[in-house]
Amino acid sequence: MSDAAEKSVFSRIVDREIPADIVAETETLIAFRDIQPQAPVHVLVVPKTAEHRNVSELAKGDPALLAELIGLAQDIADRECGGEFRLVFNTGERGGQTVFHVHAHVLGGDLSEASLG
Ligand code: 5GP
Repeated sequence: MSDAAEKSVFSRIVDREIPADIVAETETLIAFRDIQPQAPVHVLVVPKTAEHRNVSELAKGDPALLAELIGLAQDIADRECGGEFRLVFNTGERGGQTVFHVHAHVLGGDLSEASLG
């Protein structure tokens, strides 16, 4: 398999190889709207490097980046849904994870219909 084929869909968004509705970007993080929103506000916050597959790896390997990620989630929620939100990290296949490049789901607005990510 080539490098391009192995690249995660989120790395392809970071590299502007596929389009996304980007709502925030920093040196280390990118945030964009989920393609299949489960809530009125549904944004994914993603480290630009694909080094960590899930939140536990990120917490162990780069806790400062995890703190930055949560800070950016709060900024987005402040702008889009009055600062109140649900933060979901699906972890592992049986935890509902489908993209193995760590990401947080920021869910906001009326969450009565929202699934867990
Ligand atoms: P997971 O199931 O791994 O926690 O979440 C992956 C999320 O990525 C899903 O909610 C899915 O809708 C979203 N997603 C998958 N592919 C794309 C894409 O190409 N663009 C965007 N914006 N979201 C995507």
